[in-house]
Amino acid sequence: MKISRRSFLAISGAAITAGVAAKLGISKRIIPEDYRIAYADTVTTVCPICGVGCGVLCYVENGQIVAIEGDPDNPINEGSLCSKGSALFNMYYTYNAKSELVPNQRRMTKVLYRAPRAKDWEVKDWDWALENMARRIKDTRDKYFEEKNGDGVTVNRCTALSWLGSAMCNNEENYLFHKFARAHGFLNIDHCARL
Ligand code: SF4
Repeated sequence: MKISRRSFLAISGAAITAGVAAKLGISKRIIPEDYRIAYADTVTTVCPICGVGCGVLCYVENGQIVAIEGDPDNPINEGSLCSKGSALFNMYYTYNAKSELVPNQRRMTKVLYRAPRAKDWEVKDWDWALENMARRIKDTRDKYFEEKNGDGVTVNRCTALSWLGSAMCNNEENYLFHKFARAHGFLNIDHCARL
């Protein structure tokens, strides 16, 4: 039988738990059902905080995140998370004065737009934001795209736009972003973690 690192850890954890339960005289059936992840779906994602890009497992039940931990199968972090990553759960939930778990009110959940020279932010929906971004990229590229430079050399470039990648994306997503940027002739391509 082939055992992955994740299943090895799960089996080891179950064995240790069963041993402790037996020592304490606790029913084996009670402990797994007490786990808050017992009935949760597991979703893999990437820690959004820094450029290391550690793999993360989110446990989701009824559309709500109930726990977050490092992904043991991810070759970047092999299950570990730094102090910031270990606190990822608190991006979504915090505790109120009565120590009750409540949604984090500071988490951005809407598109905010500030028009040129405006002082205030406006709330917009994603359809509006995506349509406007696409339109502005297209218009700017059409206006400034250069097929040849002053010496007649083919350059196919657009220096009026730049592209910033994201540490919140995985390798495959950043690969596609890079292809997109190169296909549009962008020369100024960077990333918050310079990956
Ligand atoms: S867990 Fe820590 S090191 Fe890993 S990506 Fe998140 S912030 Fe960076």
